[in-house]
Amino acid sequence: MTTPTSTITVPATVAEARDGFRAWLAANRADLEQFRESGGDVTEIFDRLGLLQRMLYDAGWIRLGWPEAIGGLGGRPILRSVVSEELARAGYPPPFSFATQEVLGPAVAEFARPELAAEVLPRLLRGEETWCQGFSEPGAGSDLAALRLKAVAAEGGWRISGEKIWTSWAQFADRCVLLARTGAAGSAHRGISAFLLDMDTAGIEVSPLRSMNGDDEFCSLYFDDVFVPEDRLLGVVDGGWAVAMHVLAGERGAAAWQRQIWLRSRLTDLATAPEQVAGDAVVGEAFELLMALRLLSRRTVHALSDGEPVGSTTSLDKLAMSTAEKFLFDVALTGLGSDIVLGGGEAAESWRNDYLYSRASSIYGGAAEIQRNIIAERLLGLPR
Ligand SMILES: Cc1cc2nc3c(=O)[nH]c(=O)nc-3n(C[C@H](O)[C@H](O)[C@H](O)COP(=O)(O)OP(=O)(O)OC[C@H]3O[C@@H](n4cnc5c(N)ncnc54)[C@H](O)[C@@H]3O)c2cc1C
Repeated sequence: MTTPTSTITVPATVAEARDGFRAWLAANRADLEQFRESGGDVTEIFDRLGLLQRMLYDAGWIRLGWPEAIGGLGGRPILRSVVSEELARAGYPPPFSFATQEVLGPAVAEFARPELAAEVLPRLLRGEETWCQGFSEPGAGSDLAALRLKAVAAEGGWRISGEKIWTSWAQFADRCVLLARTGAAGSAHRGISAFLLDMDTAGIEVSPLRSMNGDDEFCSLYFDDVFVPEDRLLGVVDGGWAVAMHVLAGERGAAAWQRQIWLRSRLTDLATAPEQVAGDAVVGEAFELLMALRLLSRRTVHALSDGEPVGSTTSLDKLAMSTAEKFLFDVALTGLGSDIVLGGGEAAESWRNDYLYSRASSIYGGAAEIQRNIIAERLLGLPR
């Protein structure tokens, strides 16, 4: 793939990035107008947001903070944190795979062979391919270190057999960041390796699962003697736990930054709804929760950008995120009442969908109870 000549130079500060991006949004308003549209089925939405992503890539904005060797423009990763925020402010959605990029992208950049990272990351950033996260299994969700999907060493690589579950959007994914057991059955987190697997490899069956909002978001994945070449290992053999923790820091930290931007726009929708559905006090409380999330998350994205360890503090972000998200949509449910439950039309459907999805916020990326355990034991030093 050829890397396009960028139309921007790397801004020196976040404020400069913000000003520059706002000016670019204004200059490209006519071309961007198509992205205000929010309807359509999943494939249409993916295609539309893929076009937006390509525009942002070609202009350079989402290449900020990624090393030049993998298609980036260099500079600090924090520079691109303004992109989703300014898109939301101007009334556009974030490209669909932003969260994947911020969760899986940095781990692949860190742990893949340099040649592999240089091959796949530009394609991810440009929206030419999507990736999924193959961590959870039946019986290994909260207790991830209990995973059983087996990778057995073979000539030139590994052969993989077993099952994954709850893999989001795997039916559209070109690659999977997969955790597999390479150690003995009882080796827990010490016997896990991570791979970047091509989803069109023979022996993978993808079976979508319908969630309660009606989307086929999740999938079960079945692996029957699937070959993965040795150069697809991320990190070292039996060192997959470090990759998993890197991914989870992104999922609990950087993804929360993206989420709070969208939640803020939904709070504005609620507060300005013509029906006056929510009183000032509850809107104020939702705002407080979102501000707390924003401040925690801001600290995390700065730390991640500067390469500082974030440790267990991302559990605070994840817990603050699910608390704020559930509170906001509980307020919406109370205010909109039967409309949110039974109403037709785009607005009612989107509130209903968002309410139902908000229930998942205290499960994915590590359930709220698990985050509370981590905060209690590792941050507060309470006994197990
Ligand atoms: C929307 C969504 C998207 C997801 N996407 C992906 C994905 O792309 N890839 C992927 O790999 N996974 C994904 N998951 C799966 C997710 O990571 C798991 O659901 C989560 O880790 C919880 O695991 P579990 O479902 O097995 O529940 P369990 O671990 O069985 O937990 C059930 C309940 O028991 C509680 N519990 C468990 N252990 C303890 C404990 N020690 N102390 C106190 N309470 C405990 C939990 O908090 C939870 O309430 C997704 C989940 C959702 C909801």
